[in-house]
Amino acid sequence: LNNAPTEVKELAQTFNMMLSRLGDAWEQQRQFIGNISHELRTPLTVVSGYLQSLLRRSNNLNDYQREALATAGAEADRTIKLLQDLLDLARADSGYTRYHLAPVLLNDLVSEVADLTGEFGDRTVRVAAKVNVEAMVDRDRLKQVLINLLDNAIKYSEAAQPIELIVEQINKQAIIRVRDRGIGIPLQDLGRIFDRFYRVDEDRARTTGGYGLGLAISKTLVEGMGGKIMVRSTLGEGSEFSIVFPK
Ligand code: ADP
Repeated sequence: LNNAPTEVKELAQTFNMMLSRLGDAWEQQRQFIGNISHELRTPLTVVSGYLQSLLRRSNNLNDYQREALATAGAEADRTIKLLQDLLDLARADSGYTRYHLAPVLLNDLVSEVADLTGEFGDRTVRVAAKVNVEAMVDRDRLKQVLINLLDNAIKYSEAAQPIELIVEQINKQAIIRVRDRGIGIPLQDLGRIFDRFYRVDEDRARTTGGYGLGLAISKTLVEGMGGKIMVRSTLGEGSEFSIVFPK
């Protein structure tokens, strides 16, 4: 018994050493992913740029050539997006992500994001905001999150179905909801869709071409700003993602 405290002390030291080694390994891994993402993104951006410029001058190309260029370009862009996502996550993990919090009128931000939908293929996006709601957020990061959510709402619903962006204030909390009437998410997957690389049923997702990182990044960014992100969904009826900021 007399020895017990020494043993406990030794055990604690061993644990601390193991933890610190794990921490080092994790840090190395994170740096490796960050560096490699960065190194790959630069040449791929050049490739994508040339493919686009070739496509723009496609008058003398036959259908096959045009399609090959378009497919190669789309794949390059998809990979660039993956690398950007990996960089964002590596940065967030290291604590290097700086959030510039300032009061932002959410109504304006949401309208701005809705106006981007031309780039998403002309989907109907309705903005519903009865009152002006302000929150302390990093405008650019929140915009990135909203674009992610809107992009998903578009990917996972039929073109004829409208998407709603809702701004409201409940119990002094500022809330933005992104609501779609799409395919919905099975109950058993709801708890995991914010995990890295998690995709519901690869089959239904394959054609839409993501890597399952969008929601993981969105969650990291929202929490980094002091908010929360939540989801409600019914299979076959639609999904609603809510971002909540305390006042
Ligand atoms: P990705 O869309 O690239 O697969 P995300 O992290 O954005 O990755 O989403 C993870 C998974 O959650 C998706 O694969 C999809 O199955 C599901 N999901 C996300 N948003 C929606 C939505 N609005 N409707 C239905 N399913 C969704």
